Amino acid sequence: MARIYLDNAATTSLDPEVLDAMMPFLTEKFGNPSSVYSYGRETKLAIENARKSVARILNANPGEIFFTSGGTESSNTAINAAVNDLGCRHIISSPIEHHATLHTVEHMAHFYKVKLSFVKVNADGHIDYGHLEELIAGSEEKVLVSLMHANNEIGNLLDMDRVGELCKKYDAIFHSDTVQTVGHYPFDLKKTHIHFLNGSGHKFHGPKGVGILYVNENINIKPYINGGAQERNMRAGTENLYGIIGFAKALEAATNRYEQDSAYMKGLKEYMAAQLVQNFPGVKFNGDTYGNSLYTVLNVSFPLTEKSDMLLFNLDMAGICVSGGSACTSGANSVSHVIKAIDPNYENMVPIRFSFCRHTTKEEVDAVLAALVGIV
Ligand code: PLP
Repeated sequence: MARIYLDNAATTSLDPEVLDAMMPFLTEKFGNPSSVYSYGRETKLAIENARKSVARILNANPGEIFFTSGGTESSNTAINAAVNDLGCRHIISSPIEHHATLHTVEHMAHFYKVKLSFVKVNADGHIDYGHLEELIAGSEEKVLVSLMHANNEIGNLLDMDRVGELCKKYDAIFHSDTVQTVGHYPFDLKKTHIHFLNGSGHKFHGPKGVGILYVNENINIKPYINGGAQERNMRAGTENLYGIIGFAKALEAATNRYEQDSAYMKGLKEYMAAQLVQNFPGVKFNGDTYGNSLYTVLNVSFPLTEKSDMLLFNLDMAGICVSGGSACTSGANSVSHVIKAIDPNYENMVPIRFSFCRHTTKEEVDAVLAALVGIV
């Protein structure tokens, strides 16, 4: 049975061009970048070139880019540094963050006795910016604002510049989990007022287990992982050489194709949304589907029936790979913390996240719509 993969917000397939770029570093170019002889020098140079490329794309300085093991490590590093090195004693976040942030801010609150506040989230899945300003302005302690750019479950986009300006006004530190947007959205970090931002290779056809942390050059933090002097003393451990090469290559490819790919995926999302409304009475979208929302994600609720109760399972049986919320909750039909936060009375509905990539075809979307007819 041919499978249809519509769970690209969970992870994406590796681009063959990216694999080609990585291959020499999995084979003949295996030197440890810390070694002083030629093997080491050539891999060190490759890493520095990758860093420059990533920095150029994000309009940052190469010195502001650190390679990590992925989005989770980057968020942990940023949040820990804000508390332990930058003196933040009050974290303001939202209840719809990815667990990489949510569990980290809860950990900081518990173990470091940092105050933790959550900004209100409206029914359309956007944060209440007025409440955010109230929280920051009313804080007697130095604030870390940690708010994600695109929500991985519902696709809603944060107005990063607006939050950045608020943080500037009140001298707060700003971290944004941009795992769903790096590789899918143009950034200009010289313009946006932000201190920390992260990215993860496997969300845009790069390898898994590699990511970046952007640290604004105007702040000084200590390493989160201690050991050797890699990453300019900021992130110890022998570099994930082929991962780093793959990350940079995938980001270059995604950036070069951004205009055409984003327009194409937006078209697929709108087409699927329209077909769902037309053919499935009672469907409801979660998040600001037609508004400020990322083109890769479409989150829809189907009315709960005896059949739809088994929706994820039945889609899987039909060879269709989608998720009920974030990847961590796939397989289980429990309503996620994100859906509950935007609608505390959510019941009698079954939420499904469809997420697209540049390889998704209209035929695949049509096949999913046809399969849904029999199972909702
Ligand atoms: N943040 C968001 C919004 C994500 O979607 C994910 C991945 O699921 C992560 C963080 C974690 O990234 P990684 O898998 O690279 O640790």
